[in-house]
Amino acid sequence: MSKSKHVKVVIRTRPTSDYAQDMIKFTGDRKGVHIHIPKNVEGGFINNQQENWDFRFDSILHNVSQETVYEECASSLLKGVLEGYNGTIMAYGQTGAGKTFTMTGATENYKHRGLIPRTISHVFREIGERPQLSYVVRVSYIEIYNEQMVDLLGNLPDALRLDSNLNVVEDRTGTAQVKGLTMKIATSEEEALSYLFEGETTRSIAEHQLNRNSSRSHCVFTIYLESRSRIESSEKVLFSKLNLVDLAGSERLSKTHTTGVSLREAMYINKSLTFLEQVIVALADKRRGHIPYRQSKLTNVLRDALGGNCNTLMISNIRCEADYIEETISTLRFATRMMCVTNTPELNVQYDPIALIKKYEREIKELKQELSM
Ligand code: ADP
Ligand code: MG
Repeated sequence: MSKSKHVKVVIRTRPTSDYAQDMIKFTGDRKGVHIHIPKNVEGGFINNQQENWDFRFDSILHNVSQETVYEECASSLLKGVLEGYNGTIMAYGQTGAGKTFTMTGATENYKHRGLIPRTISHVFREIGERPQLSYVVRVSYIEIYNEQMVDLLGNLPDALRLDSNLNVVEDRTGTAQVKGLTMKIATSEEEALSYLFEGETTRSIAEHQLNRNSSRSHCVFTIYLESRSRIESSEKVLFSKLNLVDLAGSERLSKTHTTGVSLREAMYINKSLTFLEQVIVALADKRRGHIPYRQSKLTNVLRDALGGNCNTLMISNIRCEADYIEETISTLRFATRMMCVTNTPELNVQYDPIALIKKYEREIKELKQELSM
């Protein structure tokens, strides 16, 4: 039986010179956060009764480099993906907290590359070190905006029309797949990176032409691996995929609204994150009744990652300035709920029917030879 594992939750802080030391403290073991909001603060920005909060997570990454984030978050998960297990890494948090910096990074500065380019590079390095296996690498890139899925690697006019008919279907193994989605084969690190940039370009063209705000959409970059042995009889094929997700800003409606976003847009973003939250709450409830995946595109796309066949990690990005303390508490609460979600990652093996027939033919031939001897 496959083992169940809880979703790993890591907190990452955005560096600041204005760190609210009296309000946010991290424990020495780098797993705990203590928040203290003194009562009767001048200006009274808090009307909450509670003054102290304590949270525990798998790890706190406070003022750390992109390399450390990769090592702590992606490295071991990717090892599983290369061996045939699905993986998902998602970045959650309010706009400006560092989700895109964490996932994509500053591409013009090599040191500041984020998890996606580092993962791509690691995948091809590992493949190079496993000559006994033959790998096929594919990538896809989706943006979910106002409950519309955009195929960022599809044709540009289609991406801009925003009326794609992409649908999520479940395959025989229960894995969620987006029907009709463009998947590009990448034979090298450079090629895979060029698809990442192609998707980013499509996204920014759409952003300008359609006057959209990218922090209000969810982006999912997926790497699919297919591998088989070059040495043994090769009917066994391993499949796995790694979703790298940059979620929309988690700030509440009232705040978003004051910055002049259209109400329709703000409603959609909050709605899809609310649906994500509802799925998490339903999953965290051990009685596990109906899980409302179908309520939104995002939860439908990520259904393996949420209570399914996947190793999942969430990076919650927070800001440490006093002004953002309420959003930070809300992010930490969501992260706490996420830690209660368990998944059951399984090895994704399939048997290639043609290779299987060839193998049986060989065996029959051998048996016949034995009989005639
Ligand atoms: P989000 O995607 O959550 O809205 P961004 O990733 O765009 O936030 O980050 C907002 C700004 O803060 C960007 O200019 C980004 O470069 C910077 N930033 C975020 N996190 C870090 C970090 N860990 N180190 C340095 N700069 C960061
Ligand atoms: Mg962003």
